[in-house]
Amino acid sequence: MISPDSGRDIVARHFQDIFRTAATVFSRAPGRVEVLGNHTDYNEGVVLSAAIDREVWIAAGKSSSSECRAASTQFPEPVTVKEILPQKGTNAWINYPVGVYKVLKDRGFPVQPFTMAIHSTVPLGAGVSSSAALEVGTALALCSLYDIKIDPTELAKICQKAENSFVGMNCGLLDQFSSMFGKAGRLLFIDFRSLDHEAIPMAGSDITLAITLSGVAHALVAGEYNSRRHECFEAAKFFAVKDSTVKTLRDISMQQLLAAKSELNPQFFKRAMHVVGEDERVFSGMQLLKKGSIKEFGQLLYQSHESSMHNFENSCKELDILVDIAKSIDGVYGSRLTGGGFGGATLTMMRSDARENFEKVIKREYRKQTGRDTTVHFAKIADGASIIA
Ligand code: ADP
Ligand code: MG
Repeated sequence: MISPDSGRDIVARHFQDIFRTAATVFSRAPGRVEVLGNHTDYNEGVVLSAAIDREVWIAAGKSSSSECRAASTQFPEPVTVKEILPQKGTNAWINYPVGVYKVLKDRGFPVQPFTMAIHSTVPLGAGVSSSAALEVGTALALCSLYDIKIDPTELAKICQKAENSFVGMNCGLLDQFSSMFGKAGRLLFIDFRSLDHEAIPMAGSDITLAITLSGVAHALVAGEYNSRRHECFEAAKFFAVKDSTVKTLRDISMQQLLAAKSELNPQFFKRAMHVVGEDERVFSGMQLLKKGSIKEFGQLLYQSHESSMHNFENSCKELDILVDIAKSIDGVYGSRLTGGGFGGATLTMMRSDARENFEKVIKREYRKQTGRDTTVHFAKIADGASIIA
């Protein structure tokens, strides 16, 4: 694990190297892992998530010109943006910080052009939301730089808006919210209707989370994501026509859904089964965690994955294989795909003393069954984003 000081030091040096001056403000924002509650956020449902000890570090200063400039240790060239328009190709990574800047500006906050260095230990495109970490870290840094006070819930929404409207990814609020509000050693329960949240202690301190990368990046992720979203809204619409109080799938119980099976388009029915089922699993999961019933909690992770396979159809062969291998390993409580799906990563919850064997077995078996290599990131549950002195 990178200690807080070393991340700050690296980004401070990078800023100095590129901009030949010292940064004024520093922030950090963690990646996140969705533990339970898949594709529930945009359906105003509930989720259990965790901020993890992989983080983006930001060093920022005011720009002396009308241009925004950013440099990332992950990309070879600094990028300069004169007009605030989305960049394409190799420079597209700057859309995340510039998007946050633009949304703040559009909302009337007194932000001005910035210079920024970025360093990160969040793996990119691996399903642990390096993008939200970058947005949230940027938002905190810009607010500190220009002395802007915004409630953190509002700020998370501003980051989401940046990703939706400037980057063009129609994500829900889960990623930004988890990066903002995570609490070390606890799972974050979030209700996406009220935006209430609660940090739930994990009974038993010997639990380790593993994020296992399938190495599969589905080319159509954004398209698939948007079509699932649409199908969920269509399923909710079916109920809303009969009852105007229904706004989203959050308003539908499992009983109502099952009763409507013969009338509802079968595709929409399956999507709704997943979302409504996930909400139920999150509520029961929260009770189980509070009682310290980790084994039963782990079963909910397997059920969630089954539902992804058959109802939401956002799994793939490689993710299924990872979950199957995990299930066979001693000390594993549960495993499921995490994040959008269609490739990406699985989340596995295990006894800490199972780590070594888990890594050895999953690497060997995954290679044997798929011909691919996997990377395992063991994560501690970390605190949400902050400004660093
Ligand atoms: P995920 O959020 O699951 O990691 P995304 O595709 O949503 O995957 O976001 C990854 C993108 O975010 C990268 O391709 C890059 O454009 C941007 N990004 C994330 N971390 C950094 C970083 N440290 N420096 C520059 N850009 C970054
Ligand atoms: Mg992302």
